[in-house]
Formats: sequence, C-alpha cells, structure tokens
Amino acid sequence: MKRGGRRVRAVANVHTQVMQAGIRAAVAGLRGTVSFQAPLRNYTSFKIGGPADVLVEPADIEEVCLVVQQARARKVPFFVLGGTNLLVRDGGIRGIVISLARLRGIKEEPGSVLYAEGGVGMPTVIGYAIRHSLTGLEWAAGIPGTVAGGVVMNAGTKLGEMKDSVKAVRMVNMKGQIVDLEAARVRFEYRRALLPRGIVVGAWLQLKPGVRSEIERMVKDYLRYRRDTQPLALPSAGCVFKNPPGDSAGRLIEVAGLKGARVGDAEVSMKHGNFIVNRGHACAADVVALIGKVRSSIRRRTGVRLGLELKIVGKA
Ligand SMILES: Cc1cc2nc3c(=O)[nH]c(=O)nc-3n(C[C@H](O)[C@H](O)[C@H](O)COP(=O)(O)OP(=O)(O)OC[C@H]3O[C@@H](n4cnc5c(N)ncnc54)[C@H](O)[C@@H]3O)c2cc1C
Repeated sequence: MKRGGRRVRAVANVHTQVMQAGIRAAVAGLRGTVSFQAPLRNYTSFKIGGPADVLVEPADIEEVCLVVQQARARKVPFFVLGGTNLLVRDGGIRGIVISLARLRGIKEEPGSVLYAEGGVGMPTVIGYAIRHSLTGLEWAAGIPGTVAGGVVMNAGTKLGEMKDSVKAVRMVNMKGQIVDLEAARVRFEYRRALLPRGIVVGAWLQLKPGVRSEIERMVKDYLRYRRDTQPLALPSAGCVFKNPPGDSAGRLIEVAGLKGARVGDAEVSMKHGNFIVNRGHACAADVVALIGKVRSSIRRRTGVRLGLELKIVGKA
C-alpha cells in the first residue's frame, strides 16, 4: 500500500515537472510580460484568487498567436482573463493565464465604426465614443471589463447588450491564426456568445453620429444610477446570478432576507442583493459557500434554481 502511494506521488511529480518545462517553453521568447506564480487576486475585481503557474501579457496580437501556437505544441492549457466577472479559486489556475492588458489600440473607422483591441476597457471605449460624438454605447456605462470579455459574456444592462453594438469580432483561433467573424454569424444569448474556441483580440462596434453633450449626459445619469444602487466601493465581480425569466435575482434574494448574509469576509451586499462583496480577506471558498447558501435558500423558498452569471475557475 505504502509503495503504491509512493509510486503515485512519483508519477505526479514527473507530471508536474513535464508540465512546468512545457510552460517555460510555451512562454519563451516573448516581448510582453511573463510572471511566474502570479497571484491572481491582483488581477480580479473581487481581489480573490490563488496563483497562475504563469501570467502572460502579450505585447501585441502577433504575440497572442505565438503563445497559442507554443502552448498547443507543448499541450499546455491556457485561460484568458479580464478579471471582472471571475471568481478564481484559492488553488489558482494551472497552465498559462493570458491577460490582454497591453492590447489597448482603439480607432475610428469610416461609417461611425470603432475598432477596439481586446484589452481596451469598456469605460475607455465609452470615453472615446463621447470624445468622437458617437452614440450607441451609453447602455454599457459602468461595465468595468474589457471589450473582449464584454463580447464573450454578451455583457449587458437593462438598456442594451453587446450584441446590439458588435459588428464583427477578431479572434485568434486554436491554431494561433487571426480570423475575423461577422457578428451576424455569432449566436448571442443572455450573458454569453457562442463563439468558436480561441481568444477574442478585437471588436468592431457599430455606432452612430450623435450630439456629444447628450451622450455625455446619458452616460453620467447612468453612472449616477449605478453608484446609487450598486456597492461600487467594495471589491466584487458584479452580479453573481443570472436573472430568472420574468424576475430579478436581486429581488428574490432581498425578499428572502439574505442581504447581509455572510461566510467569512464574503457578504451578500446590503445595497444590492445580487452582489457578493469582499469585506477584506474573503477567500474563494467563502464566496462559494455563500453562493451555495443563497441558492439553497432561494430554491427552498421559491423553487427557483438560480443560475450563475459569475464564472468560477481554477483549483480549489
Ligand atoms: C462593479 C461591477 C459591475 C458590473 N456590471 C455589469 C453589468 O452591468 N452588466 C454585465 O453584463 N456585467 C457586469 N459586470 C461583470 C463584468 O464586468 C462583465 O461580465 C464583463 O464583460 C467581463 O469582462 P472581463 O474582461 O472582465 O472578462 P472576465 O470576467 O475576465 O471573463 C469572463 C469570461 O470571458 C472569458 N474571456 C475574457 N476575455 C477573453 C478573451 N479575450 N477571449 C476569450 N475569452 C475571454 C473568460 O475566460 C471568462 O470565461 C460587472 C462587474 C463589476 C465588478
């Protein structure tokens, strides 16, 4: 029995060493940033998350292609993050975590179209649209993620969603090639886009000429509304649950008296029932336990099974 246990550990060690060698080879020769054992709490809006084996910020789209090609050749898994709709578990993420933080290009093209690289923040795109008197993105004011994350999540509010604004998407496919995809060929659903596997590295957004002062006023009004109704001073990942058909998850949670419910430093926000906030030192296990508590309470009281909008990733 003991000898069997030692053999299993030895095989696991060899597997880990092979994986580490593969990871080093997959990120070799990059001009972008490469950080081994990077604590992902520093890259998530929740301020929670264990380490990535390696976190890479490719210098440009060609480097995204290179990372995908090298990861594929070494059979190393990769995961892409913007970080604002994520709960990274406490054991972190094995393999390569890719952040597009350096892909920040944005430009106006003919026909009131904006092209933004995947790492551009949605607030930056909205600021650019205001400065260029382009209307059509006001619905997104206050969504904090990247353009790429917004496309993948089909991010949205009561006023609109990404599918209303996206004209086309630029992706790096699993072979490490750049491919452009018309939005008409993508199925967008509630908080998800059915895209081919790969990395979104840019998007064309179809806007319209507008009046700068009006666009600015609408954005300001909406940001004020969000400040009044959402707990923006504390770390969170936005809404945790999807709204069930015809109802709101926040309302169900409030009526069930769950506002303020706590596990460790994870708390159901007193301001908005569908937000879980990190009151200081919450770990992912606290958030997962609190999610379980909320779900089973709502299920018992109303029969509704709340689905997750939040993405939970990584090892426990
Ligand atoms: C305070 C607050 C308010 C929020 N309000 C809203 C809101 O009103 N509406 C709303 O919809 N969301 C909201 N969110 C959630 C979040 O901002 C959105 O879901 C956002 O679109 C996620 O973008 P991200 O770049 O952070 O992606 P992440 O959260 O990092 O990733 C989301 C998913 O997309 C994948 N992904 C990310 N980038 C890429 C890429 N380049 N290629 C392929 N896959 C990728 C990830 O692997 C993951 O599966 C809020 C969050 C916070 C913290």
